Amino acid sequence: MISVEEALARILAEIKALPVTQIPLPEALGLVLAQDIVAQEDIPPFANSAMDGFALLSSDSQPRDGKPPRLRITGEVAAGYVADHAVEEGTAMRIMTGAPVPLGADTVIQVELTRTEGPRSEWVEIMEAVPRGNNIRPAGEDMHRGQTILLQGSEIGPWEIGVLATLGWASVPATRRPHVAILGTGDEVIDVDQPLRPGKIRNSNSYLLEAAVRRAGAVPHRLGVARDTIKSLREKFTQAIQHDLIITSGGVSVGDFDLVKNIMAEQGQINFWRINMRPGKPVAFGFIGGIPLLGLPGNPVSAAVTFELFGRPVIRKMLGHTRLLRPQIDVIVEDGVSDRAMRRHYVRAHVEWRDGRFVAHTTGNQGSHITMSLLNANALVVVPEGGFEIHPGDTAKAIMLDWPEV
Ligand code: AMP
Ligand code: MG
Repeated sequence: MISVEEALARILAEIKALPVTQIPLPEALGLVLAQDIVAQEDIPPFANSAMDGFALLSSDSQPRDGKPPRLRITGEVAAGYVADHAVEEGTAMRIMTGAPVPLGADTVIQVELTRTEGPRSEWVEIMEAVPRGNNIRPAGEDMHRGQTILLQGSEIGPWEIGVLATLGWASVPATRRPHVAILGTGDEVIDVDQPLRPGKIRNSNSYLLEAAVRRAGAVPHRLGVARDTIKSLREKFTQAIQHDLIITSGGVSVGDFDLVKNIMAEQGQINFWRINMRPGKPVAFGFIGGIPLLGLPGNPVSAAVTFELFGRPVIRKMLGHTRLLRPQIDVIVEDGVSDRAMRRHYVRAHVEWRDGRFVAHTTGNQGSHITMSLLNANALVVVPEGGFEIHPGDTAKAIMLDWPEV
């Protein structure tokens, strides 16, 4: 039996980032950029108005004999169009936000600081002197041609997608998403739309894992449930090895029908198959047909927790991320953890910020078959191995499952 840390190190040592491909921009959310992005254009591409108002010469805005100057309006320029004539001394042009500043004009005054006879007015009075460049956004003020805008290795979020769109990247070079085969095992496991029959339970693991895999940024492929026979498992694994990663649940313990390890030994290699933790002692890792296989336990809580601790970091490493692990913080465990385990214990808990500190509440019965302990949990309180006890009000480490990786 190996420690959680050793298991994670052994797994990650075997996992590499997947190849880079060109990904359509709308599908790049959460992916890792594979090259520096250098602006090929100035942004904004042309000097434009920051306000609805009038384009004029700043020298024309100075009061004359203490009175506001009156300028002749020669036309208007809306966003998306270019003025067909220049602004000359003694004249002004109506201008809208985002419209290119006409030739000749060196400033824009917002409409609120002017007076006219209405929308058809032929003149405008300038109520305040404005300096040159007022309300003008110069070309290249945001990004300039040749400037490095995003670095290789950065994660593409909604704001990065906006910037990439600004620069005209309809598709971006990024590490591609892993395709993950998800395989249930067990003669007792029937599908979600089946009525329960004696001895049977519904397949919850495959659906839970499918969602968790998708949330981690990979593309899940549910391959159904293998029977507890070598023949059925072989058939399923023939399909599974078409993917980048295989995640199974069940069949990795020491029962007579726990045959996943047998197939791994027959068709690949087992790196390890037991971890000193609870829930989730039977976790197998190895390769089959050259594809990494993470054999998670069958108990739903164990499958869920071990996916968070091992599966998610594997997917993130395949995606090219360098931050792989959820942050750990100190929390006050308000209700304590009464049951003592010799193995490292990951206790599902809800953590919230209250009165200037993080407070954890465990989620009730922590049996590995008690799926209710997953609901409302956003953290795992870590109880060290060796029969450690956490009394109510003690401080402990918690892994924050809803905080971004660090
Ligand atoms: P195993 O490791 O195959 O002995 O499974 C451990 C426990 O998890 C047993 O009680 C199984 O019935 C249960 N289990 C296995 N696979 C699933 C699944 N896909 N969905 C829900 N429970 C499962
Ligand atoms: Mg089983």
